[in-house]
Amino acid sequence: MAEQHLSPATRLVADGRPDRRPGAGLNTAIELSSTYVAGGEVDYARSGNPTWSAFEETLGDLEGGRCLAFASGMGAIAAAGALVGRGSVVVAPRHAYNGTSALLTERANAGDVELRRVDIDDTTAVVAALSGADLLWLESPTNPMLEVADLPALAESARGAGAISVCDNTFATPLLQRPLDAGVDVVVHSVTKFLSGHADVVLGATITRDDDLWQRLHSYRTLHGAIPGPMETWLALRGLRTLDVRLERSCASAAVLADRLAGHPAVIRVRYPGFGAIIGFELAGGRVAAESVEDAVQLWTPATSLGGVESLLERRRRHRLEPSTVPESLIRLSVGIENVDDLWSDLASALPAA
Ligand SMILES: *Cc1c(COP(=O)(O)O)cnc(C)c1O
Repeated sequence: MAEQHLSPATRLVADGRPDRRPGAGLNTAIELSSTYVAGGEVDYARSGNPTWSAFEETLGDLEGGRCLAFASGMGAIAAAGALVGRGSVVVAPRHAYNGTSALLTERANAGDVELRRVDIDDTTAVVAALSGADLLWLESPTNPMLEVADLPALAESARGAGAISVCDNTFATPLLQRPLDAGVDVVVHSVTKFLSGHADVVLGATITRDDDLWQRLHSYRTLHGAIPGPMETWLALRGLRTLDVRLERSCASAAVLADRLAGHPAVIRVRYPGFGAIIGFELAGGRVAAESVEDAVQLWTPATSLGGVESLLERRRRHRLEPSTVPESLIRLSVGIENVDDLWSDLASALPAA
C-alpha cells in the first residue's frame, strides 16, 4: 500500500503493484489457477486470488478500508444487503438504483424484511424512519434523480439507532466522496462504471473498516460464489490507474454542459449536484421529445450504463423497473472524456427548438 501522505491521484497509480525487484513485472499477473499446492494462505480460488488482491488493495486504500471484489455491483449489493436477516427493517431511498430497489422489494414481498422508502435528501424524514431500523441503505447522488444525502448526519443517526449503514458510492467515486470518513459502515460500488471506466468490465466491490463486517462479506462471497473473474479484476485495476484524469475531464465537461442545458429553451429542469459527471435533464416536450433526442444524437450513444470514457445518454423511464416518480422526459447524461464543444454541439442539435 502506498504512503498515506501521497495524494489519491498518486496512490491510484502506485498501489497494487508487485514488489519492486530486478526483473519483476510492473503489473500484477492475471492469476488463472483454480487450486493451489496445499499449505499456503489460499488453497482454492473461490476464497482468494492474487489479481483480486492487487485491485482490492488499491480501491481499499482509496476508500480508506478493506475491499472485497465481487462479480458485479449487484453481487456486492446483495452481499451488503444480506448483512441483515429475516425480520429486519430496512430504510432505503425511493430513487435508489433500480436493481437495488428491485432486490429490496423482492425481499419485502417475500416477507423477509420490512422496507421503508424515504427521500434520501430529506434528512429529517430519514432520521424519523430509522427508529427500530436494522439497515440504512444510502446512495448519493442517487441514480437517476441525483439527490444528495447528508452522509455524516445520516451515518451518525443510523449508528444511534443501532442500524448498519451502507452507501452506494458509484456516482461519486472515492475521489469525490469518502463515505467511510463520514461514518458509514460499508461502501458498495458498481466497479463497472467510473472505476473501470471503459465499458468493458462488469465488476463490484465492498469496502469496510469493520473486521467483523469484512469477515461476513468475505464469507458471503465465498459461500454464494459471487466471485469476480481474474481477467475482469485486472482490467478494472488498469482502468483505475487513470480514474483521476478521466474524472477530472468528465467533471469539468459536465459542469459546462449543465450550465448550457440550463440556458436552453427546451429544457425545463437540470439535475446536477454541482460535482460528478452525471447530469439529468427534463424536456418541455415530455416523453416524445426525449425519445427524439435519443434518436437524433450522433456522437452521444443512446445506451444504458455510465462512467466510461464515451458519453452516453438514456431516457430512464424506458426501463420498466424505473419508478413513476422519475419524470417521463428525464434524460440521464454520462459525460465522457471527448471534447466538450463537440459534445455540446451534438446534443444541442438533437434538442427540440423550444
Ligand atoms: C450500475 C449500478 C449498479 C449495479 O452494478 P452492476 O455492476 O451493473 O451490477 C449499482 N448501483 C449503481 C448506482 C449503479 O449505477
